[in-house]
Amino acid sequence: MSENYFKKYPSKDGYFQEYGGAYLPPVLEEEMKKINDAYFAISKSHNFISELRSIRKHYQGRPTPVYYCNRLSEKYGGRIYLKREDLNHTGAHKLNHCMGEALLAKYMGKKKLIAETGAGQHGVALATAAAYFGLECEIHMGEVDIAKEHPNVVRMKILGAKVVPVSFGLKTLKEAVDSAFEAYLKDPVNSIYCIGSVVGPHPFPMMVRDFQHIIGIEAREQFFDMTGELPDSVVACVGGGSNAMGIFSGFLEDKEVNLYGIEPAGRSLEVGENAATITLGKPGVIHGFKCYLLQNEKGEPAPVYSVASGLDYPGVGPEHSMLHDMKRVKYDYAYDKETIDAFFELSRMEGIIPALESAHAVAYALKLAKTEPKTSILVNLSGRGDKDIDFVMENWGKDYL
Ligand SMILES: *Cc1c(COP(=O)(O)O)cnc(C)c1O
Repeated sequence: MSENYFKKYPSKDGYFQEYGGAYLPPVLEEEMKKINDAYFAISKSHNFISELRSIRKHYQGRPTPVYYCNRLSEKYGGRIYLKREDLNHTGAHKLNHCMGEALLAKYMGKKKLIAETGAGQHGVALATAAAYFGLECEIHMGEVDIAKEHPNVVRMKILGAKVVPVSFGLKTLKEAVDSAFEAYLKDPVNSIYCIGSVVGPHPFPMMVRDFQHIIGIEAREQFFDMTGELPDSVVACVGGGSNAMGIFSGFLEDKEVNLYGIEPAGRSLEVGENAATITLGKPGVIHGFKCYLLQNEKGEPAPVYSVASGLDYPGVGPEHSMLHDMKRVKYDYAYDKETIDAFFELSRMEGIIPALESAHAVAYALKLAKTEPKTSILVNLSGRGDKDIDFVMENWGKDYL
């Protein structure tokens, strides 16, 4: 499946079966085509590949390890392993595609990276990549998020990025996307828009997947080296879906490996209380591409919520939408409460504080481990939880200490 699969999906015009594509105004269509052409020309070149390889090894600290959770496995019955993306430089998987996008920008002769950010994680990773390559960086962020995510705003500024406050509408992620696109359209020759997940118009879902594919390549080989077999299950959290696509893409061909994408069920499965897009959504169009979408009767994106701000997006990657229809990946969910339990459980049983996003995958893995003794489960630990500790203590500290 692998070779053929990657040749087949996406199609030339960016479709994963009916999902994906590029639903854009003509000006942007032109720019996306240029980025696509540049990606195909440059990303297969020897120089690009060897520079990216060197960055991953010497700057990011790859390969990140696969770790066997001794105490957790003993307690829950299944064998639980973690792919440690929390140990990737900047503490999450996002730098994998930001370094790739910035390297592409450099080869295209771009001077400036533009992006939006919600919680600030993508902004910090992109600002890091910009500093590495000596490129300008402009991050658009809603004023509501700026107030909420102060430490990440400071990080971006220290890294030399310009943070542009967005003060219209609800002043959160959606307006930040509009604002960043506007800025990009003013100077598409010198700047490039860098998307933060396997979402947006073609070629971004494909490029971001390809840059994240390294997680799956490493994890498959490392797991096999450690155990002499492949895992029974691979589990990852799904927001836009980049960390999940990264690890799944290493195992798509291995039919005997069960793949689980875990969405945030938040407080409940009622509208506005979660961001369980594939579980509860229907096909629709958002930000220039077609995917499963949480939407109201008018087809507009519905309000979303998650305890993990990196997961609260009403859409999802087009490739995940297809893999759901194909039934190659099972999409399921974890509630806030289970997620917070898992956050403390992993911290106390293994000495690893996970990002709240990743804790959704951990929560699901613990359930699998309990129901199927001896089964082997590989969890993509997409990031570390340092960013979440104040928030967790404020809201749940008294229940756990
Ligand atoms: C942003 C983020 C996610 C969600 O993004 P995906 O594109 O779904 O991977 C998950 N984990 C961490 C640590 C993040 O920062």
